[in-house]
Amino acid sequence: MTEKLDILGVQVDKVTLEEAQDVVKGYLDGTQCKMIVTPNPEIIMDAVKDMALMDIINGADLVIPDGIGLVYASKILKQPFKERVTGIDFLEKMLEHLNHSQQTIYLLGSKPGVAKKAAEKMKEKYPKLRIAGTHHGYFKKEEEEAVIGEINKVAPNFLCVALGAPKQEAFINQYKGSLKTKAAIGVGGSLDVWAGELKRAPDFYKNNGLEWLYRFIQQPSRYKRLAALPAFMIKILIKGK
Ligand code: UDP
Repeated sequence: MTEKLDILGVQVDKVTLEEAQDVVKGYLDGTQCKMIVTPNPEIIMDAVKDMALMDIINGADLVIPDGIGLVYASKILKQPFKERVTGIDFLEKMLEHLNHSQQTIYLLGSKPGVAKKAAEKMKEKYPKLRIAGTHHGYFKKEEEEAVIGEINKVAPNFLCVALGAPKQEAFINQYKGSLKTKAAIGVGGSLDVWAGELKRAPDFYKNNGLEWLYRFIQQPSRYKRLAALPAFMIKILIKGK
């Protein structure tokens, strides 16, 4: 069990990238589907307003702090995280491990064609990686059981769900009891980045904790989500006083 930090009610694991990877490696030897969540400030603000989402996140097996906003929050709350972890870096670490151990991965989500393209790019970088399957993320509620059936047919070791937050978290939570996989994680826009549909932030943005700004420049329509950031920081400042 890792130590947790309470961020506005969300219990976040105080893990480094490597520690998170070690925990999930352990999940891959298990028997049930473990759920991993990587909340950022926007998701935490969603959870503050939606207790059902708060319960889903707090019921996850591993809650990895995603991005610089949570690092600032941990400092203000006087329990600083050891390092900044991002969802996309964590996925990279897992790909390295899955490649090395020749375990399988399934990519669910994003627009038609994107998961397949992401899988091809992953395979180029990690030739021993075994792609169990891919499926786009634009299926109807009544098609969900069929999608779960397809995943269960191939029983991947690791499942990436890119349906956007909080849809992907609700999906994993609903089906974790019936999914034949060892670990499932919500990866947001990561498959778009792997497929080359969305660019990863250049080093300048990464090194200065400005990945959120780069994402906004690429997708200005996300301004509504970004608007949650100041409210998040104000709540944290009040709490940290
Ligand atoms: N997405 C999906 N099905 C949906 C809604 C979204 O597959 O019903 C995909 C979308 O194509 C994108 C990913 O989910 O690849 C992340 O979406 P978004 O950027 O909105 O999520 P966030 O990064 O904010 O979690």
